[in-house]
Amino acid sequence: MRVVQAFRFELDPNVAQRVSLARHVGAARFAYNWGLSRCLEALEQGLPLPSAAQLHKAWNVWKRENAPWWVEVSKCAPQEAFRDLERAFRNWRQGRAGRPRFKRKKSLEDNKARLTGSIRVTPRHVQLPRIGKVRTKERTDKLLELLQARKARILSATIAREADRWFVSLTCEVERPDPIPRVPQDDDVVGVDLGLMSFLVLSDGTCIEAPKPLSRGLRLLRRRSRQLSRKRKGSRNHRKASLRLAKLHRRIKNIRRDFLHQVTTALAKTKSVIVVEDLSVKALARGRLSRSVADAGWGMFRRMLEYKGRWYGARLMIAPRDFPSTRLCSRCGHRNGRLPLSQRVFRCAACGLEMDRDLNSAINLRNYGLAALKGPTGSSPGSDACGDPSGGGTAFGSVYEPRVDEAGSGRSFVSPREVK
Ligand SMILES: [Zn+2]
Repeated sequence: MRVVQAFRFELDPNVAQRVSLARHVGAARFAYNWGLSRCLEALEQGLPLPSAAQLHKAWNVWKRENAPWWVEVSKCAPQEAFRDLERAFRNWRQGRAGRPRFKRKKSLEDNKARLTGSIRVTPRHVQLPRIGKVRTKERTDKLLELLQARKARILSATIAREADRWFVSLTCEVERPDPIPRVPQDDDVVGVDLGLMSFLVLSDGTCIEAPKPLSRGLRLLRRRSRQLSRKRKGSRNHRKASLRLAKLHRRIKNIRRDFLHQVTTALAKTKSVIVVEDLSVKALARGRLSRSVADAGWGMFRRMLEYKGRWYGARLMIAPRDFPSTRLCSRCGHRNGRLPLSQRVFRCAACGLEMDRDLNSAINLRNYGLAALKGPTGSSPGSDACGDPSGGGTAFGSVYEPRVDEAGSGRSFVSPREVK
């Protein structure tokens, strides 16, 4: 099975390489913003959006007149930025994301550049176009072995600045062993609910808390941003405070990523079917949950589950957006009224069940998954390759037609108009 996998290394660049890395990241950001303003102009005038190739052509003309020094930057940095821009507009038009915005130097996410072309790896170095051979802080053995055995191929390299450190992420096509097909047993089908108090609640009653350092870091983040806002712009203290803030952002990001990797690997390895809600981070971001959801990294969690599911042969199933997981009673199936967010306990009006609201929804999600596996629509086109749903059996909760979503299809049902 071929999968796309990223290998990330911290770099240890010399002074000249630092300058060159910064120049590439700056170039990618500049080109992205340059292209974005052209796209926005086109939108305003009702013209079709320029494609990445068209932008690149126009860029080359513009560059010759306005920025001839850009010969020092590999041409793929702006080229890849235009491709990103094209994708960002496509995602927006298809309702998967908000409207593309300008990239900012101070945002961690916006200090990145993707490079293609000749990229090589040695035990302690990564060779990048234009930038040269940069030392890595850790050994690259794991990737190198795969490359030498021809089990991996490097597709691109993304360089990123996180506060005062540099990282490279090598996107590779990797040959992985095919997962052993698993026949889903009832007890390794799990419903996963995004909790209000815990990060996740599983249908077997397990609560997974976000790591303490993460919540501590987030509290500190608010204080540090306040501190920064009090410093005079351009002053030495401002510079110091903003570096401190960027370092904290990096730390939080790393803790969160590690945590999500652990959770998703454990789930993908031990469960055959994982049922989650089709909960868009966007939809929630408007409500009261905004901070905690954004912080918890639900989007990243889903993405990881999708690809790890493919690696380990677990199937990710997504209950549709209108599935009332919080309103259904997990014991009798009665549909209750809306539960305000402040209410922690679910009470069924029909059978009197009292249960933690998050656990109740996790169980409902699991029941949904079981029904989808056994029900007549369980083998609908669009179900993924892992685990052929066994036919027969009766569907739970006949009111809700279960729909099986292909893991990785990234389907979404909001149009840009609905997203404000
Ligand atoms: Zn009930």
